[in-house]
Amino acid sequence: MKLYSTNLNTPEVSFQEALITGLAPDRGLYMPKSLPGFSKEEIDSFKDAPYPEIAYRVLSKVLEGEVDDESLKAITYDAYDYDVPLEQVDEQTYIMRLDRGPTASFKDFAARMMARLMQYYLSKENRSLTILTATSGDTGSAVADAFYGLDNIKVIVLFPTDEVSDRQRKQMTTLGKNITAISIDGKFDDCQAMVKQAFADEDLKHLNLSSANSINIGRLVPQSIYYIYAYAKLRDYPEEIIYSIPSGNFGNMMGCVLARTMGVPIKKIIASVNENNEVPTFLTTGKYDKIVPSKNCLSNAMNVGHPSNLARLIAVYGGVMDEQGNISKEPDMDKLRNDIYSSSVTDDETKATIKEIYETYNILIEPHGAVGIKGLLDFRAQSGDNTLAVTLETADPAKFPEHVKAQTGVEPELPESLKKVESKDEFMDYLGTEYPAFKKYLQEKLE
Ligand SMILES: *Cc1c(COP(=O)(O)O)cnc(C)c1O
Repeated sequence: MKLYSTNLNTPEVSFQEALITGLAPDRGLYMPKSLPGFSKEEIDSFKDAPYPEIAYRVLSKVLEGEVDDESLKAITYDAYDYDVPLEQVDEQTYIMRLDRGPTASFKDFAARMMARLMQYYLSKENRSLTILTATSGDTGSAVADAFYGLDNIKVIVLFPTDEVSDRQRKQMTTLGKNITAISIDGKFDDCQAMVKQAFADEDLKHLNLSSANSINIGRLVPQSIYYIYAYAKLRDYPEEIIYSIPSGNFGNMMGCVLARTMGVPIKKIIASVNENNEVPTFLTTGKYDKIVPSKNCLSNAMNVGHPSNLARLIAVYGGVMDEQGNISKEPDMDKLRNDIYSSSVTDDETKATIKEIYETYNILIEPHGAVGIKGLLDFRAQSGDNTLAVTLETADPAKFPEHVKAQTGVEPELPESLKKVESKDEFMDYLGTEYPAFKKYLQEKLE
């Protein structure tokens, strides 16, 4: 697999290089130059296979030769030791539950695979590195959990003291070992700014800092697998399938774009967003304006006013967008509109959908999943297209108990994985928002 940078100013690299470095030197995002195709027969052969086996078979073609087969098989079975249920809503609609991983968010799929692949490459070369990550909650806990206990990798997570829930904080602070959590007396943007400054700091180059956020191609590739999986499982029905994806940074949706490139007959990709509607507006008008600052909505993991993965989508359609969101080469807008539909869902609609899905089908969903469902309903109302569709539930309803309870009267039950952190001791360090103090902390801790 060879990868290019979306800014088109970096030589092609291997998957290993892209995984370890994260961002390309020209500040673009890495994308695969080409992907293997899967025939109908091959996808059919996945029908009765368990998820980790499908992940193994897909990745062994995608990463051909870059990871030995035996290690890859061990990695996929170790990473995906939980269920991926497809819950039927009505004849033409399923919900794929991506919320059964150890931190109850779909981010487990990418973080767990990325952690193990990084560990594989690093241990082969006897190298080590430190993952530095800023989080507003979900990414930090999925990354911390995924890297926990790995030998060659340390993780330092910065989170804003007042902006994460108690439960999210505990998922990061109760692990220990190679995971360090720092409570920052500031906002998420402050955490992000300090992390970015550390990456750019020449004095810290020798500390081997790397990132685990969704700019890393290692998080994207694993997110293509469940789109192949769901189609294989539902193969008895459709010639084509539609996916609706609750989207923020558009990493999950890019996974779907990769799956389509690999041969899944996806008729339409629905990118469902909350009130941060920069992408639906872009698709309609052809003009892109980021939303600064982003709007706070109930589906808080999708409060993104300038999705970092948009540059990748534009690249797939022949255009070029830089990290600021400036488009220097237009993508093929007609083709883009033909393949992708995007709908913006208000908080009121999100609430009404949680209520309606519970009252009509007795299914509990949380705000992100509700945005996905409403986006699909909007698409059907507008197009009259009733092709079989799968909408994604990206978090466990128990992560948003107050919103779920307010609409349904039901207190969602906490999964075992989240219960176990409740009573554990917490360990964390405390810092302000001044970069020099953070830099000194890193030097003392890692040298
Ligand atoms: C991160 C997240 C999303 C958004 O995913 P993107 O890949 O950033 O579009 C949706 N739902 C939940 C619960 C998340 O944590």
